[in-house]
Amino acid sequence: KKVADRYLKREVLGEGTYGVVYKAIDTKTGQIVAIKKIRLGKQKEGVNFTALREIKLLKELKDPNIIELTDAFPLKGNLHLVFEFMETDLEAVIRDRNIFLSPADIKSYIQMTLKGLSFCHRKWVLHRDMKPNNLLIGPNGQLKLADFGLARIFGSPDRKFTHQVFARWYRAPELLFGSKQYGSGVDVWAAACIFAELLLRRPFLQGTSDIDQLGKIFAAFGTPTSSQWPDMLYLPDYVEYQYVPAPPLRSLFPMASDDALDLLLKMFTYDPKARISVKQAVEHRYFSSAPPPTDPAKLPRPA
Ligand code: ADP
Repeated sequence: KKVADRYLKREVLGEGTYGVVYKAIDTKTGQIVAIKKIRLGKQKEGVNFTALREIKLLKELKDPNIIELTDAFPLKGNLHLVFEFMETDLEAVIRDRNIFLSPADIKSYIQMTLKGLSFCHRKWVLHRDMKPNNLLIGPNGQLKLADFGLARIFGSPDRKFTHQVFARWYRAPELLFGSKQYGSGVDVWAAACIFAELLLRRPFLQGTSDIDQLGKIFAAFGTPTSSQWPDMLYLPDYVEYQYVPAPPLRSLFPMASDDALDLLLKMFTYDPKARISVKQAVEHRYFSSAPPPTDPAKLPRPA
């Protein structure tokens, strides 16, 4: 049975933040696609229209490092978003013990991540839910950001579902302190966590609660001082804490090059106003110094 008179439904790929994702064949193009079915729930009609208008904007966004939204349509109280089909994701790469990632491979993966993010930010779209399984990898090794802009349209992912707790590990300190006027810096922090995860081959800051997440951040970078981050004191959930000194970053990332470490530290800046922008990160000397990033087609991928 065809969906919207065009897509032939295949198997379910997984349950995501906003609903089930299934594989389908686009009979118009012959391409394999991934369709994300989003429950619109008991929202008023108006909300749906707002969502559809926002979705229309997302359809206009095209870049080699973001996943293309090829179609969107409402059907039986669900919104269906059609994306190009992607073979695997960065989480599977990081977790695969048979894969060796060279410094050039890591550079290539993080460069594609930052380039995709840079495109989003240039268009004033925040991702807000960056994590390795949202970085999809296509047949030619291209890494593409998935799910950007959805958080703003459909609300932040519901954290009561267990598979979303991992998103906490990528949350910026201003979010953990309850900031509501956050900006593009939250994506930079999350990208830094992903960079660290590529270097370590395990999630870097694995908090078990929001408070514990802050504790993990403090243990890695030392507690922020008010001179380092003046606005911190005024954040809604700010609480005083005990001083923790910063261990040398080098001790946490013994294998990283000096350039990699320099960029990482600038992305992990506490004050979001002082944190490096994605644009600046893309231009950091880490990307122009040796070794050059691996050609995407030659990157190691899960078998
Ligand atoms: P989450 O919200 O937890 O990030 P998603 O909704 O993005 O999860 O995806 C749910 C499942 O569907 C995952 O297993 C993911 O790998 C798969 N998936 C999502 N988008 C695509 C795509 N474009 N191509 C192939 N698989 C996809």
